[in-house]
Amino acid sequence: MITIGIDIGSVATKGVLIQGDHRWSAMVSTGWSPRDAGRMAIEQLLEISCLDMSQIGRTYATGYGRVAFEAAEKTVTEIKCHARGVVELHPQVRTIIDIGGQDSKVIRVGEGGRVLDFTMNDKCAAGTGRFLQVMATTLGLDVSELGMVEEPGQALDITSMCTVFAESEIIGMLARGNPKAGIIAGLHNSVGKRVAPMVRRLGVNREIAFTGGVAINAGVRRALEKELGCPLMVADDCQYTGALGAALLARQS
Ligand code: ADP
Repeated sequence: MITIGIDIGSVATKGVLIQGDHRWSAMVSTGWSPRDAGRMAIEQLLEISCLDMSQIGRTYATGYGRVAFEAAEKTVTEIKCHARGVVELHPQVRTIIDIGGQDSKVIRVGEGGRVLDFTMNDKCAAGTGRFLQVMATTLGLDVSELGMVEEPGQALDITSMCTVFAESEIIGMLARGNPKAGIIAGLHNSVGKRVAPMVRRLGVNREIAFTGGVAINAGVRRALEKELGCPLMVADDCQYTGALGAALLARQS
C-alpha cells in the first residue's frame, strides 16, 4: 500500500510518501494556514513521485497543525510518530530528543519503538528552534548558518534563560564588540543546558537519537553531547522523522 505521512509543524510542514522500498519527501513553510501547507506538501509529493491521489491508500497527519487538516484519515501524536520514525532509521535507539520550532521533547522508547515515557517543554521558547531563529535574526544570520559559524573554544556565557532577555543580552554583547562565533557557541550551550535536564529526568538510556529541525544544527548537537557525555545519532533527514513515522504507521495499520 502507498501511504503518506504529513507532519504539520509550527515552522515547517514535512511530508513523506512511501511506496514499497521507495520514499519521497517534501517540505513547505507552514505559514499562517496549516491546512494549505498540508495540501501543498501532498501536491509536491504526488508531483515528484508521479502518482495521483487515487493511488494513495492512506494518509496520516501529525504535528501541532494536524487537527486542522481534514484531508488525513487519521491523526497521530508527534510522540508516537517520532518513535516509529526513529526505530526505522536507528532500531537500537532507546531515547529520542526532538527539538522543533516551538517545543522540545524527550521520549523513552522500548523495543520496536514502543513509547515508554516522555517529557516535553512547550511552555517557553528557550530550548526550541524559535529561540535560535530569534537569535539568528538578532545576529544578522540565517538560522541554518549558526552551526557553521560557532567557535566552541570561544563560547561566551549567556545567562538569561528567557528568549526576550537573552536577545537583549546578545545585543549588549555585540555592542561591546564580542565575536559572533563566541556568542553563537554560548547560545548553543544554553540550549544544551536547557534540554539535557529533561533527558536526565527520564534517564540517559543509550543509544540516543536527535530529531527535528534543530538536529541539523551541529552546534546544538555538540552542546548536547557535551552535557550528556555521550554521542547522539542524527539521521540526514532528521527533520522528516515525524512525517516518516506517520507514513509507516499508516502502512502498518
Ligand atoms: P516544527 O515541526 O515545529 O515546524 P521543525 O522540526 O521543522 O519544527 O524544526 C524547525 C526548526 O529547525 C527551526 O525553528 C530552526 O531552528 C531549525 N532549522 C530548520 N532548518 C535548519 C537548518 N538548515 N539548519 C539549522 N537549523 C534549522
